[in-house]
Amino acid sequence: MVKVIIHRGTKEIGGSCVELKTDKTRILIDFGMPLVDVNQEPFDSKSILGKTIEELKKLKILPDIKGLYKDEEKNIDAVLISHAHLDHYGLLKYVNPNIPIYMSEGAKQMIEASDVFIPNKVGKINSRVIAKYQKTAIGDLEVTPYLVDHSAFDALAFLIEAEEKKLFYSGDFRAHGRKSVLFEKIISDPPRNIDVLLMEGSMLGRGEQIYKDETAVEEVIEGILRQKKNIAFLFASSQNIDRLVSAYRACLRTDSIFVIDIYTAFVLNEIGNISTRIPQFSWKNIRVKYFKSHADSLAETDHKELLYIFNKKKIELEEISEKRRKILMLMRHNSLFPVVIKKIDNIKEAVIIYSMWQGYLTHEFEEYCRKKEIEIKQVHTSGHATIEALKAFSDAINPKTLIPIHTFNKNEYLSLFKNVTVLNDGESFVLRDN
Ligand SMILES: [Zn+2]
Ligand SMILES: [Zn+2]
Repeated sequence: MVKVIIHRGTKEIGGSCVELKTDKTRILIDFGMPLVDVNQEPFDSKSILGKTIEELKKLKILPDIKGLYKDEEKNIDAVLISHAHLDHYGLLKYVNPNIPIYMSEGAKQMIEASDVFIPNKVGKINSRVIAKYQKTAIGDLEVTPYLVDHSAFDALAFLIEAEEKKLFYSGDFRAHGRKSVLFEKIISDPPRNIDVLLMEGSMLGRGEQIYKDETAVEEVIEGILRQKKNIAFLFASSQNIDRLVSAYRACLRTDSIFVIDIYTAFVLNEIGNISTRIPQFSWKNIRVKYFKSHADSLAETDHKELLYIFNKKKIELEEISEKRRKILMLMRHNSLFPVVIKKIDNIKEAVIIYSMWQGYLTHEFEEYCRKKEIEIKQVHTSGHATIEALKAFSDAINPKTLIPIHTFNKNEYLSLFKNVTVLNDGESFVLRDN
């Protein structure tokens, strides 16, 4: 008998954790940090630092899964990670190190590179690279990863077969990024005879997007760079490789200098051998700004020679200030931003290209920018599929049962898609013959 249990993810985005089991094998798919707490408020990821596994179980931050954790006998055969976003891998440090953790080559590199710089480190994990579009046997399960288009690099969906049953886990995906061809590929040649499709629905309830795809974002960034009268900042995640590529291409066409930080230079360097199209610190029109906190973090790793290598393209704030009209500087709204703008005399008419989900933009920050006469332009396209794309996806796969996951609006699935069964967290669903 094949059973699926969504430990977390039926009613929220973030903290994804799905168990799939047969009589012989138990695996987990994703083991993410929640994005919201029990009161639906933003989850404070620092709140878990220093707490024990038992304490985190009591707080319902770690799901109660026997045989998964470090302090007990192993009873889970493997964990599959769909992609390198914290809401899918962020709790891995609690997993028993004897349990293999399968992921794509790109996800492995991204997780290891980010771990150098983020506070919630997963540390050393038992990670293994899983081959795409090939069957990997885990006990009596067979897993076939499919590459998908998402804002995380090298993201996967999984086809899992056991006892003549088939489950497809979409992971996070979209149809409008730089790799939209992957979406077309699944639609035109979908996995057949799927019993259960677990499909994400992040965009349900979010409303229309202003910019429909990554190409539109790239064009708008280019337009802003052409017209700017002062420095431009790009607020984007260092892990959103599609977005960094869009920004870099816009810089090349406008002969702007793309200033990245050590964190970003390191991430790009680590995945540079997976795809030769990923911009590198050494490429033209890219310079690297050193922040002490990033340099200190990298110096503690066995990659510290990179600090000398990146140094060839180092740029100081004085030069940034001097060449401001040619600069697009990657930033995030943390404590470094005020430090940077303090060093740039006359920040008036500077522009922030806000290229992240608008939910992260606080009123407080908008007010801060208004006082400084810095304009904020929201230029973003989601990492997640639109309702139209979700419909095309579920129609193509045509599962016997479609189960909502990674959504705040699971009941909306009932009116949008066919064969929907809504589950609650922790509820078992048996894949039956019919
Ligand atoms: Zn996610
Ligand atoms: Zn994601």
